[in-house]
Amino acid sequence: MAFEGLSTRLQNVFGKLKGRGKVSEDDVNEAMREVRLALLEADVNFKVVKDFIAKVKERAIGQEVVKSFTPGMVIIDIVNKELTELMGGEQAKLAKSNKPPTVILMAGLQGAGKTTLTGKLAKMLQTQKHKPLLVAGDIYRPAAIKQLEVLGGQIGVPVFTLGDQVSPVEIAKQGVKRAKDEGYDYVLIDTAGRLQIDEELMQEIKDIHSAVEPDEVLLVVDAMTGQEAVNVAKSFHEQLALTGVVLTKLDGDTRGGAALSVKAVTGCPIKFASTGEKIDQLEAFHPDRMASRILG
Ligand code: GDP
Repeated sequence: MAFEGLSTRLQNVFGKLKGRGKVSEDDVNEAMREVRLALLEADVNFKVVKDFIAKVKERAIGQEVVKSFTPGMVIIDIVNKELTELMGGEQAKLAKSNKPPTVILMAGLQGAGKTTLTGKLAKMLQTQKHKPLLVAGDIYRPAAIKQLEVLGGQIGVPVFTLGDQVSPVEIAKQGVKRAKDEGYDYVLIDTAGRLQIDEELMQEIKDIHSAVEPDEVLLVVDAMTGQEAVNVAKSFHEQLALTGVVLTKLDGDTRGGAALSVKAVTGCPIKFASTGEKIDQLEAFHPDRMASRILG
């Protein structure tokens, strides 16, 4: 399960303090040392850990944990709040344009789960009574168009395609036009997976961006890849002005580094968590719930 190692370690640290009626400043420092190690082992970015520990310590001293009768509870509460802040605080909602359709552009590395996410998001929007159109802009991966068509077919959402011989920029433009003409209120544009170092493909997605001016640019990242996911997010953000991140494969045994670092490193909120291969395994990302889950 995701975050298992981190959860167990934090519960051990706080378990030691919880039953105690009184703790010393040394106890607090010792606990923070262990929290720091637990976060580093969970593959959280080094600088993020450093800032996090400093903030928790500052609050702990400010709230005079050592004078409290329930010091363990006070510390857990502080850590819970700081973890929530670290992951973005408030839940970040999907964009909604005042002038429909709302255009959403998907970006990410191949295999991160973009095409799957595109289908899942359409299903979620449909459940919320929206009328989404899918646009098949990945013309490079064999079967990507078919995969999207199968997903669309499963949920009864149409897929706009011009095959794989037309440029993705043109496909995206015409897809958005189709949505406008036919009264769809969301357009989800799937794109080819690309490496941030691949200049040609990066330029292509920038061209799609200029052509359709999306309301939302979602970067889909595989949570299992830890700090690498954060590095990918950072360089995509520098080139493409992301508006949100989607973490996929949170059903795997990810240590948690990506979820805990990506907002702090990029400034981009995590909007959704994908937790399986099935089309309904998508959740809005709630930082507070995730923090509580980590602390057990
Ligand atoms: P793309 O290349 O970014 O479009 O990636 P795909 O959408 O084709 O997904 C790549 C693989 O990851 C597929 O086998 C998906 O079924 C799988 N996948 C996607 N999201 C998740 C997820 O949240 N959990 C798990 N376990 N697998 C996922």
